Amino acid sequence: MNKYRFFEDKFGEATPQTLASLLEAEDFSSVYAYADNINRSVHGDIVDIRAIIEFSNHCRRRCAYCGLNSINTKVRRYRMSPEEIVETALLARDAGYKTVVLQSGEDLYYTKEIIADIITSIKARSDIKITLSCGERSLEELSLWKSRGADRYLLKHETCDPSLYAGLHSCGTLVERLSCLRTIKDLDYETGSGFMIGLPNQTSQIIARDILLLKDLGCDMAGIGPFIPHPETALKGAEPGSTELTKRSVALTRLLLPHANLPATTSLGVLDSNEKRSIFDCGANVIMRKVTPSNYVRLYEIYPGDIKVLDVYAERRELEHMLVSLGKIPR
Ligand code: SAM
Repeated sequence: MNKYRFFEDKFGEATPQTLASLLEAEDFSSVYAYADNINRSVHGDIVDIRAIIEFSNHCRRRCAYCGLNSINTKVRRYRMSPEEIVETALLARDAGYKTVVLQSGEDLYYTKEIIADIITSIKARSDIKITLSCGERSLEELSLWKSRGADRYLLKHETCDPSLYAGLHSCGTLVERLSCLRTIKDLDYETGSGFMIGLPNQTSQIIARDILLLKDLGCDMAGIGPFIPHPETALKGAEPGSTELTKRSVALTRLLLPHANLPATTSLGVLDSNEKRSIFDCGANVIMRKVTPSNYVRLYEIYPGDIKVLDVYAERRELEHMLVSLGKIPR
C-alpha cells in the first residue's frame, strides 16, 4: 500500500482549510516524512549553497518589522562600491560558490546602469549565477538586468493578507508587490518569493494562503522564515515566530512545489542553531551563507543575531563539513 496516498489525494486539491488543519495538527511527523521523501526524489541528497552579499543597508522603505527601515536612525548606513561587489562575488566563486545573491535595502542609489554594469562585470569574469534581491524595481530595470545575465530574482511577498500587509507597510501595497513578482516571472527570471511566520495577528489560514500563493505565482524558490523582533522597529515587543510552524510551512510548501528551491533561512538558524540541521529533513534543499565583507556584515541587521565573521573559504569549508555530517552532498 502507498503510505503517502492520504497526502497525494489531499494535495490534488489543497485548500486553505486542509493546509491550515495540517499546520495545526497534533502530530505532523508523517507530513515531514512525505516532504523529505519528495525532496529526496527530486533533489537527492544535494544541498545547494548560495553566497549572499549584502551590498547596501540603505532603504527607502519603512517596513514595521525590519531593522533597516528608513526611520531607524541608530543604524550606521553603508554602501559597497561596484568594484567591491564584483570582487566579493569573485572571491565567493573562488571559495566554491556557484550562486551569489546580491541583496540590499531598497536603495535607488544603485541605478539601473550601476546594477547592470555589476552584472556584466561578474558574468564577464565568472560563470557564477546571480540572484538579485534589491526590492521592488521597475519593468525597465528588471528587464535590463535580465538581459545582462541576472538569473534569479528574490522578492518575498511577506504576507498575503491585505490588511496585515497594509498594517506593516506604510510605504507600499500588496497589489504592487504581487504585480512586481508577476513581472519578474514574466521576464523569465527564476522567481523567488516567501513570507514570514509569526507576524502579529497572523493565523494558520493566512499561512495556508501564503503557501498557496507561492504555487499560484509559479515560484521557483521560496524563503520562509520566522519573524524575529528588532529593537528599533514598531514590532520590538512582539513575540518571535515559531520554528516548528516555520518547518511545517516549509514541508507543506515542498508538497505543493516539489521542484522549488527552498532555503533553510538564516532567521531560522538565528532562533535555534539546531533547527538548521533538522530543516533538511522537512523539505529544504538550499542554504545561504553571508560573504559580505567583515567591515559591513554587522551593519546589515534586519533582525538581531549573532553574526560570526569568518574567512570566506573557512566558512564554506565548515558548512560543507556540517552538511556532509548530515549525510548531505554540498554543491
Ligand atoms: N529590500 C529587499 C526586499 O524588500 O525584498 C531585500 C532585503 S529585505 C531586508 C530581505 C528580507 O528580510 C525581507 O524580505 C523580509 O522577509 C526579511 N526580514 C526583514 N525583517 C525581518 C525580521 N524582523 N524577521 C525576519 N525576517 C525579516
